[in-house]
Amino acid sequence: AKGDGRGVYRFYSSDMHADAEDRRQLEEDLRDALASDALHLVYQPVVSSVTEQITGYEALLRWQHPRRGMIAPDIFIPIAEDTGLIAQIGDWVIRTACRDAAQWVETTRVAVNVSPIQFANPGFPSTVMNALATSQLAPGRLELEITESVFLSDNADTDAMFARLKALGVRLALDDFGTGYSSLGYLKKAPFDKIKIDQSFVRGAAIKGNRNSAIIKAIVSLAEALGMDTTAEGAETHDELELIRQLGCSHVQGYVYGRPIGAAEVLERQLNAGT
Ligand code: C2E
Ligand code: CA
Ligand code: CA
Ligand code: CA
Repeated sequence: AKGDGRGVYRFYSSDMHADAEDRRQLEEDLRDALASDALHLVYQPVVSSVTEQITGYEALLRWQHPRRGMIAPDIFIPIAEDTGLIAQIGDWVIRTACRDAAQWVETTRVAVNVSPIQFANPGFPSTVMNALATSQLAPGRLELEITESVFLSDNADTDAMFARLKALGVRLALDDFGTGYSSLGYLKKAPFDKIKIDQSFVRGAAIKGNRNSAIIKAIVSLAEALGMDTTAEGAETHDELELIRQLGCSHVQGYVYGRPIGAAEVLERQLNAGT
């Protein structure tokens, strides 16, 4: 498994949306995908700005469609959410990511994306607990990435869910920060360990006079004051990397450090590095 196949799934890239007909067909195919091993995870390195060591990997879902080739998650996750299939798919992702990460060097974390629909399911903490128990992965090595949209239905259930997940000992990250319904109130209430600064801020930040760097700087100082890590997402160039470091982001993720790779390749690299 090489690369994340970005070039390969151009046909169904996130810039296009499947029309209604396509969507119905994809919906049907997605039901078969789980059963037929057509889904797999790739892992993108997250690197410490301080040590420049890989501290973990984010699990990213891929669908190898039997006829259409690789389909991007931006296309099929929304379909999975609409049809309710996200529950089974999400379970599979967590179990697989925990199982894979349990093979890696013990200091390496794994981050898993959680759909707001999974998050709203009262059974979700049991799913996480079972995945940890089965894989024997230490809870502190699992990081759940949650987007701000979970706060749309802000109520006692949301608070309780955060508390239950935290009690399992897993880490929590606020994904795509700054793109959605950002309210500083969330940061006060929810026990996040990390804020992931969306790549729309990173893109172009290194261009002189660009305002994104001021925004990144503000997010970093806010996160620091709250005792949270920050990951800048989508750093592609060395200029962006340099700037992100200067602005004090604790972690960086992006093509500048590598595209997602298969679980076996992560293991292989770790074995090679260790000898
Ligand atoms: P995300 O969670 O924000 O994931 C980061 C996305 O940015 C990934 O796209 C990754 O491949 C891409 N990326 C990383 N570095 C760079 C870079 O330097 N430049 C550019 N241009 N892109 C970069 P991907 O894998 O296509 O995933 C898209 C989205 O699909 C994810 O955004 C996430 O919201 C969702 N997703 C992926 N896997 C899962 C999953 O297992 N469960 C759920 N619920 N959602 C998932
Ligand atoms: Ca993510
Ligand atoms: Ca993100
Ligand atoms: Ca995203």
